[in-house]
Amino acid sequence: MFFLDEICFGCYNIFNANYNSKEEIFLFTENDRCMTYEMKNIQEEIIRLKKEKDICILAHSYQAREIIEIADFTGDSYKLSVDASKATSKNILFCGVHFMAETAKILSPDKRVFLSNISAGCPMAEQMTPEYIKSIKEKEPDRAVVAYINTTAALKSVCDVCVTSASAVKIVKAMDAEKILFVPDCNLGAFVKKSVPEKDIMLLNGGCPVHAAVDAEEVHTSRSLHPNALLLVHPECKPEVSNLADYIGSTSGIMNFAKSSDAKEFIIGTEISIAEHLQYECPDKKFYPLSKKITCADMKLTTLMDVYNCCKAIDSGDESDAHEILMTDEEITSARVCIDKMLELGE
Ligand code: SF4
Repeated sequence: MFFLDEICFGCYNIFNANYNSKEEIFLFTENDRCMTYEMKNIQEEIIRLKKEKDICILAHSYQAREIIEIADFTGDSYKLSVDASKATSKNILFCGVHFMAETAKILSPDKRVFLSNISAGCPMAEQMTPEYIKSIKEKEPDRAVVAYINTTAALKSVCDVCVTSASAVKIVKAMDAEKILFVPDCNLGAFVKKSVPEKDIMLLNGGCPVHAAVDAEEVHTSRSLHPNALLLVHPECKPEVSNLADYIGSTSGIMNFAKSSDAKEFIIGTEISIAEHLQYECPDKKFYPLSKKITCADMKLTTLMDVYNCCKAIDSGDESDAHEILMTDEEITSARVCIDKMLELGE
């Protein structure tokens, strides 16, 4: 049994429904006139617009199914920015949150980059200011500052190297520095610290409030409900959760692990949409979200209508719905330094 939230683009009601099988979802979406008929029309129109206006659509894995379906590339934020930099399209439309579109702009400074819903931010990315990090650097001048990619461009500009959740351990190991300040996520930082005990890693009080909302008690409850399932957890979860996992990895790491594993049941300890996407892709396996608390409200802000309105507005002359990411050359160049360092150390 798994659940799905769906929005009707006819009446804008949210449907919260439980389904026993993938087939049941298929029947629902195909036959529900007011939802599916409209949604498919909007998807077709987006596909037409992106060809007409030379738009490459990037959808982060935490986006809703109907947005994933019309994207040119899907996946983790850094991978998407790299994909976009290699694409020939002159416009990039990011379906995700603000720091992700900024990273895409940093890697593709000559392209126009848009965010489909301008209100979609990331609470973690905005937790620490450059001034705060500079004040700590003054007290700890011999520490190299490692920034999780989930940070603003302004914060990246005062850090020495960037990491993704997939590369954090590898990059920290490869650095010359023995003393590190890891920002902003103390849970990912704790995972790195445990994996690289030979280095002195200082953490600050920050992190993803969504992943940090789940605790060990919920793991025990979920394990008792699904005794045969493997627990796959994102390192943004608290150590009390990660320590109970069968696998700890990035979102793409979790998805790849689940797809290639011989196991048939999985408890997914990352954003709730991942269990849903995996269920579509692997109908012969079963996926259970660890907790409904791991639902990112910012990631869920973007709707198919936002994508449609943004595509329509790009190059139309009326760009009120096209939310372009504008950065100066200096902002791009200074934020790029720590991304280049990550590539040098073997991202
Ligand atoms: S899941 Fe956490 S890190 Fe990702 S966008 Fe939401 S708040 Fe930010």
